[in-house]
Amino acid sequence: MKALLSLLIVWMSLPSFSQKAIVSGRITDSTKMGTIEGAQIHFLKNDTTIMSGFRGSYRIELKKHLSDTMVVTHWKYGSVRVPVALLAGAMEELNIAYPVSCKSFPKTGVCPMCHTGANSIRIVYGMPSKEMFEKSEKGEVKLGGCVVDDCMPHYHCKTDRIDY
Ligand SMILES: [Zn+2]
Repeated sequence: MKALLSLLIVWMSLPSFSQKAIVSGRITDSTKMGTIEGAQIHFLKNDTTIMSGFRGSYRIELKKHLSDTMVVTHWKYGSVRVPVALLAGAMEELNIAYPVSCKSFPKTGVCPMCHTGANSIRIVYGMPSKEMFEKSEKGEVKLGGCVVDDCMPHYHCKTDRIDY
């Protein structure tokens, strides 16, 4: 029993050692409902850049910072900044409907893809409290990260996996 307990303690403390998480998804063209290949995806704090590949797909392992800003750039559509905040060991799917403009972010909580707010949650920015972490683990809010500018989505649709 003692051995089991110490094993459990080692296991529970592991995530603090391995600050890694995986983000993957697709970059989509929100005007034509197609996918965008060859978009540059840069993670500011992790200082890592990848390109979206076949059918707009991308996949990256974040090794340094689990809270970061993802900057997606394409020659035709310009740039969009998407805040990401992951828990250690998480595998998050994040699809980005693009291009978006600040003005297009509604404050009503009605998803532009499924036209309902039934499965949408608020995105919370800033350093999360313990309570907010617990809420995000239950899927009640989405943590938006600590980098805030004036062009941020307010909601996340869990059905379509988009921020809007
Ligand atoms: Zn939706």
